[in-house]
Amino acid sequence: MNLKDHILELKGIGEKSANLFRKLNIETLKDLVFYYPRDYETFVPCIKASEVNAPCLCALKLRIVDDCKIRKIRNLTILNVSGADDTGVVQLTFFNMAYLKNTLKRGTTYIFRGQVLPKGTNLVMEHPKMYKEDEYAQLLKGIWPKYPLTKGITNQAITKAVSQVLDVCPMPADPLPDFIRDKEGLLPLKEALWQIHFPSNREMLVKARKRLAFDDFFSVILQLRRSKELVEEKTSDFPMIEVSQCTRLMEQLPYQLTNAQQRAWQEICQDLSSGICMNRLIQGDVGSGKTVVAMLALLMCVSNGYQGSMMAPTEVLARQHYESFLSMTKKYNLPFKPVLLVGSMSAKDKREAYSQIASGQANVVLGTHAIIQDKVEFKNLALVITDEQHRFGVRQRETLAEKGMQPHVLVMSATPIPRTLAIILYGDLHISVIDELPGERLPIKNCVVGTNYRNTAYKFIASEVSKGRQAYVICPMVEEGEMEDLENVVDYAEKLKAALPPEINVAYLHGKMRPADKNQIMESFGAGHIHVLVSTTVIEVGINVPNATVMMVENAERFGLAQLHQLRGRVGRGAHQSYCIFVSAKTEEDTLKRLEILNKSNDGFFIAGEDLKMRGPGDLFGIRQSGAFSFKIGDIYNDSDMLKASSEWADVILQEDPLLSCEKYNCIKGYFDEDAFNFIDFKSI
Ligand code: ADP
Ligand code: MG
Repeated sequence: MNLKDHILELKGIGEKSANLFRKLNIETLKDLVFYYPRDYETFVPCIKASEVNAPCLCALKLRIVDDCKIRKIRNLTILNVSGADDTGVVQLTFFNMAYLKNTLKRGTTYIFRGQVLPKGTNLVMEHPKMYKEDEYAQLLKGIWPKYPLTKGITNQAITKAVSQVLDVCPMPADPLPDFIRDKEGLLPLKEALWQIHFPSNREMLVKARKRLAFDDFFSVILQLRRSKELVEEKTSDFPMIEVSQCTRLMEQLPYQLTNAQQRAWQEICQDLSSGICMNRLIQGDVGSGKTVVAMLALLMCVSNGYQGSMMAPTEVLARQHYESFLSMTKKYNLPFKPVLLVGSMSAKDKREAYSQIASGQANVVLGTHAIIQDKVEFKNLALVITDEQHRFGVRQRETLAEKGMQPHVLVMSATPIPRTLAIILYGDLHISVIDELPGERLPIKNCVVGTNYRNTAYKFIASEVSKGRQAYVICPMVEEGEMEDLENVVDYAEKLKAALPPEINVAYLHGKMRPADKNQIMESFGAGHIHVLVSTTVIEVGINVPNATVMMVENAERFGLAQLHQLRGRVGRGAHQSYCIFVSAKTEEDTLKRLEILNKSNDGFFIAGEDLKMRGPGDLFGIRQSGAFSFKIGDIYNDSDMLKASSEWADVILQEDPLLSCEKYNCIKGYFDEDAFNFIDFKSI
């Protein structure tokens, strides 16, 4: 077998499961090998029933001591049975598993693993997993992968498939030269791949991750550096002069720009009038007011007679930009002629937009990142702004250069990254930091609460809505893919509707909805017709509805702190006091301590740093990536040492041998060989 082969070649995988695997973007054996676990599971030896005195996840060895009782509540079948060891009795409850009555016979013994709760004088275990004794003994010895799943695929199915491939298929040749591997203390690729799926122990898992993170960064950085000719400073074809319109707009705004905003604007203004192509990154925390700075840049651009565009990662955000351009244009009599360009527009509307762009009739194009990839012809595109772009501005310049264009480029990001890392990742970009929030804003009030607080939170939401405010509720992510995210959001919205007064309008939003539906929901929320929006994290990026004052996040313990901070950034944008409620199902000390960091600070840079400190570089269990940049496994915070090392090596190598033609570095070409190595597709990030 060969890594290029289709997964249908594997034993136990037929058309039906192949279709399900495709949903996870797994088609070939190679895809499987590079489908990394998102977490790991370890097992601990059984304890005695008498040792349980607080809710905990544990394993108990119990003998069944009575007969199964089955009852039905609506479409739920509940099976109850008691198990005991020599220290106590435990009530076991299973849902929709009536067939277990044939297994759980009086007198049989199993190991039950799950959450145990003391209830009165009883112990209760809901829906535990069951194991035979020898099976559990086996599990105790290992660290087991937990893969991201989708409905219909079990963790076991993926585990089996991966292990088959690792057993029978030759792995790709290692593209990293031996001497670099030795110097950095990295595992060979083949071993790293084995260990990431089936670690022998914690130490090996840490090493495997380190190697694969190195590769993630290294392949991207090599590609970045190799396109160096693209990033050199070049004379601009679109020289500009400072214009009075910008000063006038600043005077007319209902607020004064913060010092940090003014600084960023000055830097942009200098770039645009310098005669050199601008390549600038504006980094500013959520709510720091990047949009108005971008608007000033576009105003300077169109006042000089050119076209400009601003791109956002989602349609919802692009429309929001479009709406605010329309209203600002009208309100301040600005020379903008904005046009919207997004995927869900009808072919006719798109054609109309294309023709306005080509003729110059439209001078600001607002849309999704697809704008520059599309077949759009501009009349004189001089400035390209990408909003909430966590990724690489270079790639955009490449696309533009391919079209023979060389506009000024401005990238805006809310991802808090330390300057040292920013320089590696953005390489050639000049950086402006907006490190100040607009002054008159009331700080957001935060609280971290247990699930028993839910009803109080709902009452609070209802009272805010009655004052004319709005709320977001971010829905729990689902473990193990038992249900898909969308069902979860829908169910939750139903539940919430039932819990809130009938006059409150509840709607939901998730990533799998049709773009047109999403837009409609967002528009309606923006207009205040929807009072409470239940959503997945699709809401995380950039949305600006200043009237929303409550952000309630369910299962907050499962999110990275940086992500929670982004979510929180959706409120506290207007004049009203805003509130953030983090609901945590886990009461463990560490979880609370982590969430406390958010409670203490509203500063994204500080939060990211503290989060990293608390977790420690070796602590891999349950880590979610901070979500910044789409590396496969490498995380710029957790693996910052590898990021630095890979960047240094890339510099050394490309300096010595830019074409990678000498023997010493020849193997590195493997990083660019799509068939062998699963390098990150630069174009996709
Ligand atoms: P972000 O940096 O997250 O993109 P926005 O640009 O969306 O933030 O700005 C958030 C809100 O703050 C907007 O409603 C905007 O009008 C407002 N805002 C921007 N700058 C200022 C300022 N200097 N003073 C007061 N409010 C401001
Ligand atoms: Mg923004």
